[in-house]
Amino acid sequence: MQYDWYSKSIPELQAYISELGEQGFRALQIFKWLHQKHAQSFEEMSDLSRGLREKLQEIAPLRPAYIEQRQIAEDGTGKFLIRLPAEGEAAEGAAIESVLMKYHFGYSLCISSQAGCRMGCRFCASTLNGLERNLTAGEMLQQVYAVEREMQITISHIVVMGCGEPLDNYEALLRFLQLIHQPEGKNLSLRSITVSTCGLTARLRELADLNLPITMAISLHAPNDGIRKQIMRVAEAVSMKELLEACRYYIEKTNRRLTFEYLLIKGINDTRHCAHELADRLKGMLCHVNVIPVNPVKECGFERPAPEAVEQFIQVLNERHIPVTLRREMGKNIDAACGQLRAKAERKTNGRGN
Ligand code: SF4
Repeated sequence: MQYDWYSKSIPELQAYISELGEQGFRALQIFKWLHQKHAQSFEEMSDLSRGLREKLQEIAPLRPAYIEQRQIAEDGTGKFLIRLPAEGEAAEGAAIESVLMKYHFGYSLCISSQAGCRMGCRFCASTLNGLERNLTAGEMLQQVYAVEREMQITISHIVVMGCGEPLDNYEALLRFLQLIHQPEGKNLSLRSITVSTCGLTARLRELADLNLPITMAISLHAPNDGIRKQIMRVAEAVSMKELLEACRYYIEKTNRRLTFEYLLIKGINDTRHCAHELADRLKGMLCHVNVIPVNPVKECGFERPAPEAVEQFIQVLNERHIPVTLRREMGKNIDAACGQLRAKAERKTNGRGN
């Protein structure tokens, strides 16, 4: 039987353990083994009796995700290809990516919320083969645990900005937030978590109503509908006006500063005029713009702007009093852009090579 141990709350584990005829307090022991000690097998759970470990292994074995490949750059940035357990008759599970970044304040991990993505952003390798499947909350958590275990570190910040659109996997995202915050588990403050969206406004409004102390990042990448439609398929369905209205609603409900992610692409959205138009749009909002020169993806054909263009863009936003930062460049010698390692692994699996 497949039982998703990593996605269950303590009361759910208690109910299941009782159903198996065992004492309910075992659930807390198991929860701690999974979420604090990152156990990958019942065998490791030394405070459970041998009989119970064998019984659980037989009835509902743990099926942990594992790191299949890792690339560590000179600056400490790490990229991990993580293999999820196989489903049904499949020989092999889906592959996802997580990216580790080392900052002065600690380690931050960018995790995936879906295997693949159906959003179709043109600059992104994760969407090239569409959506393979949603991740469970446990699979989102396991990325954190697998990297902590592999690197012998503690991750202090999480960014849900890897493969997938987090708000397209909304229920699992909420469960993930609840579990990672659990005092008997990793006990991470929600303030240390950033969630991104490319613009699913209905979900963004729902999330606003929950008033969670997470940081919300909006992948904007354009100052108007025309340019946004050129690079993001979601813009066909959601206009800038609608998106920014939902953003204002979010700020009003949570009183929290929004981050706008702006991928700077040569010749597309990097002009002085674009910077002014963006400033007009964001004027008066409690927000901050994070400028990211595009990391070229072979399949997409976008180019990184010249350093002078990046500087000019930032200067205009500064002059217009829009808070702006330039994302530090990390992991230059690895496939650091979203979905690139996974795309490579898939090409190898499909025998197409690089
Ligand atoms: S950028 Fe994000 S939302 Fe857009 S296709 Fe890639 S993973 Fe999906």
